[in-house]
Amino acid sequence: MSFEPVIGIETHVELNTKSKMFCGCSSVDSTIAQPNQFVCPICAGFPGTLPTTNSKAIEYGILISLALNCKINRLSIFSRKNYFYPDLPKGYQISQHSHPLASQGSLTIQSNTMTKMIRIRSVHLEEDAGKLIHSNPEATLIDLNRAGIPLVEIVSEPDLSNAEEAVSYAKELRSILSYLQVSTGHMEKGALRFEANVSIRQKNSRKMGVRREIKNLNSFKALQRSIEYETQQQIKFHKSNQTIVQQTLAWNETTGQTVVQRTKENDDDYRYFPEPDLPNILIENKWINELKQTVPELPFDKRKQFQAMGISFDDAHLLASKKEIATYFDAAVKIGANCCPKITPNTLANWITTHLFRLLNEFDTTIDKTHIRPQKLVSLITLVKTDVINVNSARLVLREIHIKPTDPLIVVNQLNLQQTLSDKTLSTIVNDILEQHPEQTQLLLEGKTSVFNWLFGQIMKSTKGKSNPKTIKNLLKSAIENKRIKEK
Ligand SMILES: [Zn+2]
Repeated sequence: MSFEPVIGIETHVELNTKSKMFCGCSSVDSTIAQPNQFVCPICAGFPGTLPTTNSKAIEYGILISLALNCKINRLSIFSRKNYFYPDLPKGYQISQHSHPLASQGSLTIQSNTMTKMIRIRSVHLEEDAGKLIHSNPEATLIDLNRAGIPLVEIVSEPDLSNAEEAVSYAKELRSILSYLQVSTGHMEKGALRFEANVSIRQKNSRKMGVRREIKNLNSFKALQRSIEYETQQQIKFHKSNQTIVQQTLAWNETTGQTVVQRTKENDDDYRYFPEPDLPNILIENKWINELKQTVPELPFDKRKQFQAMGISFDDAHLLASKKEIATYFDAAVKIGANCCPKITPNTLANWITTHLFRLLNEFDTTIDKTHIRPQKLVSLITLVKTDVINVNSARLVLREIHIKPTDPLIVVNQLNLQQTLSDKTLSTIVNDILEQHPEQTQLLLEGKTSVFNWLFGQIMKSTKGKSNPKTIKNLLKSAIENKRIKEK
């Protein structure tokens, strides 16, 4: 008997509005603020205080819903979700339950080999809880900066069939949020968190199994590994005739295992009831239509556009993954097309996804924060294309212009990187190197072609980057050819 997993995902997105969901406290990145710096009687849950709804959060919720092809519900209602936990001073969370902001949407995931539509069940608005800090052995501390930060929860239908699809879904969702600019999307800071509902069923059967929910997954790796582990675990239970019960699980990244937190938790456990302190939200079509005009081009369309330029699927995926990367690439393509010689989109895609990304990674920064603006990247590639410098030198220059806002050509001159050696000088160097390494030269003459690159490397080294690799290769080839003729 073979089984397949059935996966649904719940996503929590912290919105980057200026203030909190139901009070005027600042909601700037709570991780860089002092603990409890942004707290007032409302978000600290004092009795007798009255919440008011942040209309910007509703607007962002509608934008997300529109990007996910949802139906925006004319009426949505806030409810109290009652449960006790020390990070929730009110003893309940204001959320939406029976009447969410939007429902019945979809998100399309894509890989090299498949395209699949995942249905979205609902999008609803709620508030985040505070944060407990367990670093002190004597006591647990509480920071309420996060309490009341606007959250959007996006619930998918159980349409995902394996961990890879779940990760594609999560990545696509993060890209969409980046294009809409409604959240920082920082997973490591908890601004984007996933929960996976996993069950198994017999292949080709429509009968669903009992689901177990893995909470608070804040990296794609954790999402992937926890689903893979949980699937195998449930198959094991099934094969050994153990009953699978509905449970809430935590993922332990270190042990690579899920741990049971709570058993069976249903909606009725929360005693939902309408929040009496907040009015219902009535959304007019006029507002929806106005917001529709502001939804930008989304990653799915951007990828299609890039592929139409001849960019590979993988590169198109990377370049369209974040709005700032797509914007950068678009700008570079425009500048490159007006250059002499023309710099093609493919050349630019190559430079961005290899050299530039490697550098950004090394400096732990992002494309919108580097001094290498598209114009400078294009100038640098032009220097390579017109044989002023070689690729190795260009990588040096790239690093310099990332650190300092300066022009590539100035760096080339400062570091004296021009390929200035004449063909005659280069020819002499090639012959010198061959004479210095008679053994390797002999091997090459005997047809051992792997030595070619080694000798090429020696020559490049001795020219200190002041030579064009293409010229060196040609000179080396003809020097060997000459020797061969002489030998005959
Ligand atoms: Zn407050």
